[in-house]
Amino acid sequence: MMDESLRHPAWADVPAPLWDDWQWQQRNRITTLSALEARIEVTDAERLGIEARASVFPFAITPYYFSLMEGPQCPIRRQALPHADELITTPWDLLDPLAEEEHSPVPILTHRYPDRALLYATHHCAVYCRHCTRQRKVGDARSAPSRAMFEAAYAYLRRTPAIRDVLVSGGDPLSLSDGRLLDIVANLRAIPSVEIVRLCTRNPVTLPMRITDELLAALRRHHPIFVSTHFNHPHECTREAGAALERLADAGFNVGNQMVLLRGVNDDAATVETLNRWLVRHRARPYYMLQCDPVPGTAHLRTPVEAGVEILDAMRGRVSGLAIPQLVVDLPGGGGKVTLVPERQLRREGSKRVFRNVDGQEFTYVDEPL
Ligand code: SF4
Repeated sequence: MMDESLRHPAWADVPAPLWDDWQWQQRNRITTLSALEARIEVTDAERLGIEARASVFPFAITPYYFSLMEGPQCPIRRQALPHADELITTPWDLLDPLAEEEHSPVPILTHRYPDRALLYATHHCAVYCRHCTRQRKVGDARSAPSRAMFEAAYAYLRRTPAIRDVLVSGGDPLSLSDGRLLDIVANLRAIPSVEIVRLCTRNPVTLPMRITDELLAALRRHHPIFVSTHFNHPHECTREAGAALERLADAGFNVGNQMVLLRGVNDDAATVETLNRWLVRHRARPYYMLQCDPVPGTAHLRTPVEAGVEILDAMRGRVSGLAIPQLVVDLPGGGGKVTLVPERQLRREGSKRVFRNVDGQEFTYVDEPL
């Protein structure tokens, strides 16, 4: 249970059973400027961002996640509140940077890699992240999938046995009721060629009370299920969030974290190290450190690619490999993911390869297998 002290005073009188009820949290999300202004001092830049952008990509914040916010530069606030800087655009912004729509053989299914597919299960999320890659449709009820769309997606998976791994995403699939989510997972499980189901959810971060024992008991009957979550900053590492990760691990879910590098949020090695050490302690594996996709409205949040390389360089050798993620750029235009690593090989001298270690010293490896 969350520390009482971590609750914003606006909800101080809410009884604990209600506060810990994920549906109460969903019903009481902050979604309007007036509700926001009743609780915090909104800056001019935030007000402008809300007025100009909320109709394009809405904002919504659970009372739980809201309670983690501090001043205007706070990493939680930066991820969750619209800002005037979202009006900055660049010529290389793309509405659909990963070309997901182009690679959709049927609505709500993206098939971009031979053995994987992504199912757009819902338009809804507990919190709308300002850096969301899919903000062209997330938060828009018009993009909510219909029953017929799900049936078409299942039919495509049945006739495409090369797909072994299905990512259930959106939106956040844990926004769905237990019944709806279980129906989707059971339908996928009934397709013999689908070996792995992955649930992509930010609920452990923004709504950890959603990870209920009832849901886990029902889902675990359909293992193997992997969970991809999305912690970005140590401020999100609360006792509640840690307990949610522990419950997932105890129920046999393999949890990986996909952090997105964000300017002014987590673009330094100390922040990433603190976050990742906490994740490993709670049995979640830091999996990806993703370069932020060039979506309109995210220019102010994007970091230089070099920042990620420097973070890896600073961590390697000092931090357990378990806590070091892969640095990934998802290539705009649907080119797929590429990983980047700090350059360690300095030169080749015949069969000798000269490397730089983490302390900057040179070492030679003779590359002459028998
Ligand atoms: S939870 Fe995921 S899908 Fe939803 S807004 Fe955040 S990044 Fe986008």
